[in-house]
Amino acid sequence: MNDDKRFDGDRKDLERFMDGVVQRNPDEKEFHQAVHEVAADVLPFIAEHDRYQRGKLLERMTEPDRVVSFRVSWIDDQGQPQVHRGWRVQFNNAIGPYKGGLRFDPGLTESVLKFLGFEQCFKNALTGLPIGGAKGGANFDPKGRSDDEIMRFCQALMNQLVHYIGPNRDIPAGDIGVGQREIGYLFGQYRTLTREFVGALTGKGVSFGGSELRTEATGYGVLYFVQDMLDRADGDLDGQRIAISGAGNVALHAAEKAIALGARVVTLSDSGGTMHDADGLEREQLETVKRMKQDRGCRIEQVAEKLGWDFQEGKAPWAAECDIALPCATQNELDGDDAQTLIDNGCRLVAEGANMPCTADAVERFQDADVLYAPGKAANAGGVAVSGLERAQNAQHLVWTRDRVDDELQKIMRDIHDRCERHGGDGNGGPVNYRKGANIAGFEKLADAMIAQGVL
Ligand code: NDP
Repeated sequence: MNDDKRFDGDRKDLERFMDGVVQRNPDEKEFHQAVHEVAADVLPFIAEHDRYQRGKLLERMTEPDRVVSFRVSWIDDQGQPQVHRGWRVQFNNAIGPYKGGLRFDPGLTESVLKFLGFEQCFKNALTGLPIGGAKGGANFDPKGRSDDEIMRFCQALMNQLVHYIGPNRDIPAGDIGVGQREIGYLFGQYRTLTREFVGALTGKGVSFGGSELRTEATGYGVLYFVQDMLDRADGDLDGQRIAISGAGNVALHAAEKAIALGARVVTLSDSGGTMHDADGLEREQLETVKRMKQDRGCRIEQVAEKLGWDFQEGKAPWAAECDIALPCATQNELDGDDAQTLIDNGCRLVAEGANMPCTADAVERFQDADVLYAPGKAANAGGVAVSGLERAQNAQHLVWTRDRVDDELQKIMRDIHDRCERHGGDGNGGPVNYRKGANIAGFEKLADAMIAQGVL
């Protein structure tokens, strides 16, 4: 951290920088992976710009402002006390109040939350909205819990989280395991504890301050981004075969928009396996999937049986023949071998609906094979963008129409695409390195704000 050597932009800089990150954050492999991916693009950029050499900007950006953890005790339906751990990682608020989702996942660790919080800073900067980066959640498994248990857990979590959040301080939203129902319970408890009805959470129900289209925004945004990538490459979505992983909020809304834009969705999955059909999902079939998954908590295996689709137990979707792959489930769900299979089967575009779903090896293979690749911090920014718009509506005490929010979402996704192109293109209309473009554009915005505000 206190090494004063300037960056030259070579491989040694990266190794030296990463050695420091690993030493300061031992055993946090997801966090190391996310930082490495950014540093590989940003260090050469810093080396070329004197303005960014001073001030140890990347060192400061990789150190969260604070990490808080707390006990969450609650009573289950059998009257037994249960104890979980909750966290909030407030990463950087140089461009706006902290903002990022809450995740409920029994395997959640501080490393995962730090990687997500770090990515969120760059993603939020890319949206052009005034929002900083954070992430949080609990090592709680909502699967198999009754509605009453979910409510009591959310209330217990908020009893602690309330001390750290607020409409101008930190505004959490949903993520894996946290949807509109959970946000409703969290918001109700926040309102009760603070005796204020303010926009301290986003992803709320539309009847109590939520934004139209927030639920759909991440998945729809991924498809708008893919459309922009294809436009630039003189392609379109019509008839394209799309393999999607996951069957949650992001995956199902990505599927919905893909179908609306004329594409064929040939897979969906969950942690139990993949359902596959080469003809693709019909719109009515997607409604059945949504009902079964969202309302009744069915597994993809049951959905496949109902629709008469092929089900591959324990398998990810990456062996399916497709033109486009959209990993929309979780981190590191697509590795180098999966990438090679996709490439061999003719896949030409990969956009991340999930956060860091592709391993570093997978990304390298896509780039080596000239597969168009969009990182999550660009492609899945539609969710936080509409959260930003929800915040704006709450502050204005207004409710925008669905069409207005959709127009804004499309514009924001196009602006993100253009920012990626500006820093990741060759300036001559050649292919865009979206990863590099997203990393540098996000860094630049954050770095300029940090420089202007002094060393803090
Ligand atoms: P959900 O909880 O709604 O859905 C997650 C889906 O992924 C479920 O179908 C789940 O299946 C599946 N899944 C989880 N873990 C695995 C695994 N190890 N292998 C295979 N499938 C798995 O979450 P979201 O859709 O909200 O989030 C998905 C991803 O998108 C995450 O990476 C999240 O951080 C990211 N994201 C979400 C945003 C949002 O607005 N919600 C915004 C931006 C990014 P199962 O039921 O079997 O666990």
